[in-house]
Amino acid sequence: MADLVKIERWGLLFVGGKDTNGQPKSCFNCPHLLAKQEACAYMNPSIIFRRLTHHGQVYTPVCGYQIGGLPTVTDNPVFMGKNPDELGLEWAKGTGTNCYGYEGGAPCERFIHTEGEDGICAIMIEDDNKVDSDDCCAAHKGPSMTWQDAQKQIEDSAWPPKYRAVATGALPAGTVLKCAN
Ligand code: SF4
Ligand code: SF4
Repeated sequence: MADLVKIERWGLLFVGGKDTNGQPKSCFNCPHLLAKQEACAYMNPSIIFRRLTHHGQVYTPVCGYQIGGLPTVTDNPVFMGKNPDELGLEWAKGTGTNCYGYEGGAPCERFIHTEGEDGICAIMIEDDNKVDSDDCCAAHKGPSMTWQDAQKQIEDSAWPPKYRAVATGALPAGTVLKCAN
C-alpha cells in the first residue's frame, strides 16, 4: 500500500481548540455564519443553516473553512455563492467536529490517541503532528449527514425554511429543531 501523503498543519486549515473556546467547530462559532439569515456568506442563501435532530441524534452544520469566532449579525448580507461540496459542507453527527469528540463533537478517524486528551494526526507531517481532542481541521473525517439530506430534513421539519426562524427573531442562532422523522 502506498504511504499516506502527509500535509503541513497550515495546509490543513488547522483550527485550535482555543479558537472556539474548546467547543466543537461548527457554523455557530464561525464568523461566516449570517445569523439573521441562517445562511453562510461563502455560499448562497438557499441553504439553511440550522442544527437538527434526526432519530434523536443532533446534527450540526460545519465546513472545512470554519474559523473560530462569533456569527455575524447584519441586515445587509453579501453572499459569495461558492459550491458547498467544494467547501466540504456537512451536518456533523453531534455538536460539531473536532479531533477526538470533545464536548460532543464528531471525532475524526485520523486521530491517533496517545494519552488523556492528546494524540497525533495521521495525515500531518511527523515533526508537527501533535493535536488535542478539541482541535480540528479541514480534513476532518467523521460521522455526518450530507448537506442535501440535512436540507431535506429541514424542509420536512416542524419549522421548515419558509419560516427562516432566526431571521424573524423567533429563535436564537444554534437552536436545535426537531425533524418530522
Ligand atoms: S459553512 Fe463553513 S464557512 Fe460557512 S458558516 Fe459554516 S463553518 Fe463557517
Ligand atoms: S485528527 Fe482529523 S480533525 Fe484532527 S487535525 Fe487530523 S485530520 Fe484534522
